[in-house]
Amino acid sequence: MAVIRDVMPAFQLFQPTSVTDAQKLLEDHGSESWVMAGGLDSFDWLKDRIKRPKALVDLSGIQELRGIRSIPDGVEIGAMTTLTEVVRHPLIKEKYGLLSQAAELVASPQIRNQGTLGGNVSQDARCWYYRAGWPCYRAGGNICYADTPVGRNREHAILGAERCVAVNPSDTAPALIALDARFVLQTPKGQQVADAENYFIGPDLDITRMNVLRPGYLLTAIRLPSTWAGAQFYFEKVRDRNVWDFPLMNVASAMKLSGDSIQDIRIAVNAVAARPLRLRAVEDSVRGQQRTAATAEAAGKLAVQGAVPLQFNAFKIPLMRNLVKRSITGVQEASWAS
Ligand SMILES: Cc1cc2nc3c(=O)[nH]c(=O)nc-3n(C[C@H](O)[C@H](O)[C@H](O)COP(=O)(O)OP(=O)(O)OC[C@H]3O[C@@H](n4cnc5c(N)ncnc54)[C@H](O)[C@@H]3O)c2cc1C
Ligand code: SF4
Repeated sequence: MAVIRDVMPAFQLFQPTSVTDAQKLLEDHGSESWVMAGGLDSFDWLKDRIKRPKALVDLSGIQELRGIRSIPDGVEIGAMTTLTEVVRHPLIKEKYGLLSQAAELVASPQIRNQGTLGGNVSQDARCWYYRAGWPCYRAGGNICYADTPVGRNREHAILGAERCVAVNPSDTAPALIALDARFVLQTPKGQQVADAENYFIGPDLDITRMNVLRPGYLLTAIRLPSTWAGAQFYFEKVRDRNVWDFPLMNVASAMKLSGDSIQDIRIAVNAVAARPLRLRAVEDSVRGQQRTAATAEAAGKLAVQGAVPLQFNAFKIPLMRNLVKRSITGVQEASWAS
């Protein structure tokens, strides 16, 4: 499948200055519309001529979608807030350091300056075949090119795959799940608020989408409740190139301790499945336990139960076992694939 990277196909460009106007435009143009935030994912699709929307709704002029503010029970981050702003904001650094750590590990400084938090959690799969325009399941076809004996699937899923084995590539998503964030959506039927983990969907629900956004929907803000503010956090990302790269895997945990006893915990991993996974069984197994190497070891083993590797990604099983283990001990080790 040839990919042409010269000029983009023509579309109508709309630059609304309010959420109401943006939402109306999206509703009017339905499935022919495209929301553009920082454009890092959007322009890839448009310049490769693989997605061809008729109407582009650019959110960059909507001030109410930008910024980080205190709300009665926590903090609200506008969807158009850049990743750099998220990394640097004193309130996020002080109370929700898990999110600033995760955002700081996204790509490069230039990408973080332009990329938004809303775009980061709404970005599409990075599977080679899909991004190159091959007519696979996710693109509406009837085959998965990655899930074959010779398919390039080193980066792909080890859990919960159904026809499509692509993974969600966001670094901020697992941190937001661990922080129990809420995603605020503007829809044709009014405002809806989704728990972070329910914002993301897998192929079992809809193989063509990675989240609950449908034509006419807008993600307006992400709220961090105070419940996990100032908890003990752990974030780790493993990637091929440490300068900048998408995650081969990442893990995020938020923990409340009483002495050495784990009172409460939330753990999420990404790049192992089509959606970031909250590890509820692992959380249940360590809640009330002493935070010891043995507890962490058992948690790591539990996390990978049911994992099924593809031809070239068996390394992800010990990687996940060790990342989960370390998200409980809080100690980063040099070796991760033993
Ligand atoms: C070279 C490169 C390397 C990268 N490396 C990493 C990495 O290591 N880790 C990582 O996590 N990410 C990485 N990314 C992704 C990047 O961080 C961007 O955050 C992400 O691509 C999209 O953010 P954006 O603001 O540019 O959104 P856009 O590209 O404009 O939008 C992305 C998608 O989300 C939708 N969307 C965006 N905002 C909204 C909204 N408010 N409401 C409804 N829909 C919306 C758009 O329609 C589009 O489908 C990388 C990207 C590139 C190009
Ligand atoms: S993994 Fe998913 S996106 Fe990639 S080729 Fe298979 S169906 Fe397409």
